[in-house]
Amino acid sequence: MAGDRAHQDLIDPFGRHIKDLRISITDRCNFRCTYCMPEDGLEWLDRSQVMSFEEMEHLARIFVERYGVQGIRLTGGEPTVRAHLPALVRKLAKLEHSGGPIDLSMTTNGATLRSMAPRLRKAGLKRVNISLDTLDREKFHRMTRRDELDNVLDGIAAAQEAGFRPVKINAVIERGVNDDEIVDLAEFGRERNVEVRFIEFMPLDADGHWVNDTVVGQDEMVEMINAVYPIEVMPARGAAPADRFRYLDRDPSEPGGKIGIIPTVTKPFCGDCDRVRLTSDGDFRTCLFATKEFDLLTALRAGETDDQIAARIEAAVATKWAGHKINQVSFTRPTKSMSQIGG
Ligand code: SAM
Ligand code: SF4
Repeated sequence: MAGDRAHQDLIDPFGRHIKDLRISITDRCNFRCTYCMPEDGLEWLDRSQVMSFEEMEHLARIFVERYGVQGIRLTGGEPTVRAHLPALVRKLAKLEHSGGPIDLSMTTNGATLRSMAPRLRKAGLKRVNISLDTLDREKFHRMTRRDELDNVLDGIAAAQEAGFRPVKINAVIERGVNDDEIVDLAEFGRERNVEVRFIEFMPLDADGHWVNDTVVGQDEMVEMINAVYPIEVMPARGAAPADRFRYLDRDPSEPGGKIGIIPTVTKPFCGDCDRVRLTSDGDFRTCLFATKEFDLLTALRAGETDDQIAARIEAAVATKWAGHKINQVSFTRPTKSMSQIGG
């Protein structure tokens, strides 16, 4: 069995072992979040340009079986708008690295989870992160340009009922937009027993309104939450992007007993980064902010062997840079925005 084979480490020039693959399974989305997409959407890829489930499975298998990648996260665009998603989950859930089955997870806006969560769970999806940036219906409508707050809240409950654990909430905080709700969102996590992960706003919004002042940094978020619900930092995050903090009055083994903060801008975690990405059109990226992509889908469709594709992957990983330069004048925004890259 492939899972029994010893794998070869995929290591970048800075000694980081690649263990995590994010696959954007579609560039399309049913929301239009202001920090991500323009109101009219983007120019969608033609369906023929997007990887089929078989192509995703083929490339994912190389990462898992050859290189021991342990985790795959499905993202997008909005992964749940891709037809027959449970069929893809079933294919990927069967993949095994040398240590056992992969950790298969998904990031979603949650709007359709009431109907989809049980099927996804049954198909082998292990974890879900659901985006929720505000608890106010009007503001939700403004931020996502969709009046879907109730469906998302119901989707969160549906994910819990379907047995996903922990359910995590992703909340992007933008100054002047939803920074007044940081404590409310923390409270929501405590009450609903979900782990809220606050994300610093990144310069990957399609309409380019990001400026440094719109970022609410980790220290500021910690101070606001700590003033109401005392928290303390938990042991080092390793390769995980979130710094975690536990509530002093709660059990940190419970999802609602802690929060995470993803401080991409104010405290970059590039030194521990173990992740790589595949866009929905099969381009391989070694950083969210990378300006160069490596086209694996064309190679696959041209009939290249797994060894040839693996050589492309290794050549790409050899270019993984030490870290992004958001805080330096030399920073260049990638031409693709978050939904096109797969956040
Ligand atoms: N549509 C799904 C969702 O919204 O959860 C998955 C794709 S979305 C691009 C993945 C994550 O990126 C979401 O948690 C979203 O909030 C986050 N995101 C999008 N644009 C962002 C930005 N400019 N800065 C920080 N996070 C962003
Ligand atoms: Fe869609 Fe997710 Fe981007 Fe919002 S953040 S527009 S839900 S891809």
